[in-house]
Amino acid sequence: MTEDIRDLVIAGSGVAGLSAAVYAARADLAPLVLEGDQPGGQLTLTTDVENYLGFPDGVGGMELIQRGKEQAKQFGAEFRHGRIEDAAVDDQPLELSLSTGDTIYTRSLIVATGASARWVGAENEEELMGHGLSTCATCDGAFHRGDDVFVVGGGDSAMEEALFLAKFADSVTIVHRREELRASEIMADRAREHDDIQFRWNTELKAIHGSTEGGVTGATLVSHPEGYPREKAESGTEVERETIDVGGVFYAVGHTPNTQFLDGTGVERDDSGYIFTQTDDAGRPTAQTTVDGVFAAGDVADPRYRQAITSAGTGSMAALDAEEFLETLQNTGESAAPATATQEQSAP
Ligand code: NAP
Repeated sequence: MTEDIRDLVIAGSGVAGLSAAVYAARADLAPLVLEGDQPGGQLTLTTDVENYLGFPDGVGGMELIQRGKEQAKQFGAEFRHGRIEDAAVDDQPLELSLSTGDTIYTRSLIVATGASARWVGAENEEELMGHGLSTCATCDGAFHRGDDVFVVGGGDSAMEEALFLAKFADSVTIVHRREELRASEIMADRAREHDDIQFRWNTELKAIHGSTEGGVTGATLVSHPEGYPREKAESGTEVERETIDVGGVFYAVGHTPNTQFLDGTGVERDDSGYIFTQTDDAGRPTAQTTVDGVFAAGDVADPRYRQAITSAGTGSMAALDAEEFLETLQNTGESAAPATATQEQSAP
């Protein structure tokens, strides 16, 4: 399949990608949105969003995403399944190799690929993920009616997951490796005040027990009064061990940015993989990465705020920056044509 070089490809269809798509489509850039492995991003795993401006009664995560997609499509954004597996972005045109086998050429790219849930490294987690072990309470909580469950983590996600699970489970225990929560006061208070939620402080998950057929049946915990017990055990310090019967384990220990496809490119990232965006000459933030024509929006460039509303904001910034970049590219008359005639190829 041969297709003209695109002006703009947006990788990711979460809030950041959709917001970029709305702005770019309204600016007549006819963006192509690659939906990624988890179309709609993290909000599709959330129940109610209470802090997105304009929804005093809250809004469902899925609904917000569906409406955003509708809005972007209405202005002419195109959506396609697929994930970027490899990217050559240091020269024009940028070349994107997709999981579908297609290669797409584009003058600009907005990376809005978000971040994926982290795992903790407990024994048997690979085997039991999806069989009683989960990273998404809203997806899997209803399978745990009447169970005792663990939620691992001490941030807002852990509180949110625990509160949601308490609707189904008999008891929810938040297992946290320190004595102090990272969660915001309001979320922490809601969890602390809930009758069915308990906390295990200075405790970590060592192993999960069960089978793919029968699901999770228990978990081995390690604890130490000074916290970080797994680290302590590895360095030879004695820790307390206990195996407890539970019917489910939920991980809520943060996320890793989806930027592996940028390995080997000039797009600079921090040690965790979060993309660095640049400031302008006056020191103000932009969505520009360290490579011309490549912009970043949402969680993929934001280990700090990670909110739906900030993602929407940076999505719009990325689209505006991409629009300006494309104008400059056109005005300077730089040719973005690849050496060969085929600009988009299907897999053989
Ligand atoms: P987070 O704030 O980074 O918290 C991750 C938690 O997991 C921390 O408590 C951390 O412990 C723990 N942890 C990390 N690696 C671990 C490991 N290997 N073993 C055991 N524990 C581990 O991540 P988050 O809770 O996903 O929140 C991310 C962002 O989204 C935050 O800005 C949060 O405010 C926001 N958020 C907001 C809402 C809401 O407002 N409704 C809901 C969810 C998330 P330490 O504390 O010891 O580092």
